[in-house]
Amino acid sequence: MDCKIGVIAGDGIGPEITAQAVKVLDAVAAKYGHDFNYTNMLMGGCSIDKYGEPLTQETIDTALKQDAVLMGSIGGDAATSPWYKLPADKRPEAGLLGIRKALRLFANLRPAYLYNELKAACPLRDEVIGEGFDLIIVRELTGGLYFGKRETGEKDGLRFATDALTYNEEEIRRIAIKAFEVARKRRKKVCSVDKANVLDSSRLWRAVVEEVAKDYPDVALSHMLVDNCAMQLVKDPGQFDVVLTENMFGDILSDEASMCTGSIGMLSSASLNDTKFGLYEPSGGSAPDIAGKDIANPIATILSAAMMLRYSFDLEKEADAIENAVKKALSEGYRTGDIMDTTGNNEGFVKVGCSKMGDIISERV
Ligand code: NAD
Repeated sequence: MDCKIGVIAGDGIGPEITAQAVKVLDAVAAKYGHDFNYTNMLMGGCSIDKYGEPLTQETIDTALKQDAVLMGSIGGDAATSPWYKLPADKRPEAGLLGIRKALRLFANLRPAYLYNELKAACPLRDEVIGEGFDLIIVRELTGGLYFGKRETGEKDGLRFATDALTYNEEEIRRIAIKAFEVARKRRKKVCSVDKANVLDSSRLWRAVVEEVAKDYPDVALSHMLVDNCAMQLVKDPGQFDVVLTENMFGDILSDEASMCTGSIGMLSSASLNDTKFGLYEPSGGSAPDIAGKDIANPIATILSAAMMLRYSFDLEKEADAIENAVKKALSEGYRTGDIMDTTGNNEGFVKVGCSKMGDIISERV
């Protein structure tokens, strides 16, 4: 298969971690006979340094010509970097919002998977963890409260502020379809999370999700109120497969779910539009505190590349090969500093740097 992959290495640890993901993709291409063609693009602080703006039209146009984009991370240390003396719309993070908008990325996928080997990093008790968990949050990314009509004013001598939570049925339908499609690639269960006992927008959400479910009789649908979901994630995370939810609920629940896994360096993510196109990136930031030291954990970016193979290119066995290679590297004891055992019990572990971890995983593909 021929695939055009855009690469936005970005700032901080971005170039180090994306280089490892490309290394692993090259190993997949060699083993399975694919042709991955990479095009590097600038975005964030490095684009400000070169062009004076975090996202250029050239980067957008180039991204639109790719089949998918792999991203590292953008941004710097807000206290010391000159990028943060610029107005908000010229700062590195504005590039991220701009590219999401330009590429019409409305679906955000955040897996939370607990590796058996990293159980010690999980803040939940053993009896809660049970056999572990493997869930994915499918969050609507471009509607709802964060994009609704807002107003701050004063009435009858009292200050007030309003943020409107609005969804139309089309916005709900397209994200629900994504969730059911994702479920078909997994254990075929969708739990739709809303606040239908209170909110009109949630009642519409629930009705439209049920309509979409009729086209997916092989996928089991359940509904859960968001407050209950927040509790269930820390009480019994193993019950979830795909969690489908609106923008703000997804923002909160995906951070909660990811913290249950314990390590930010392991968390991949994908943002998709209504084609097969997606932007794939680790959930963490540019980690300026450890940039350039070859100690960052590249696994989240490598797993984001696996998501790219699965969701943009339908290369299931190749995605499995990457995920299994990661598991193998962990079970053989290889660790970057951030995932050494926090209890201090590091017997049998081999501490490696970012680049070495990329080599080890590539060799195991
Ligand atoms: P961060 O995620 O960069 O770092 C938080 C902590 O986690 C740091 O101690 C860091 O060393 C550690 N960490 C993060 N990724 C790691 C990895 N792969 N391996 C090992 N340790 C890792 O969050 P922050 O410090 O709040 O933000 C730093 C910059 O990143 C800011 O400019 C922020 O805006 C930006 N940011 C960018 C993205 C993105 O590009 N999508 C996302 C979040 C934050």
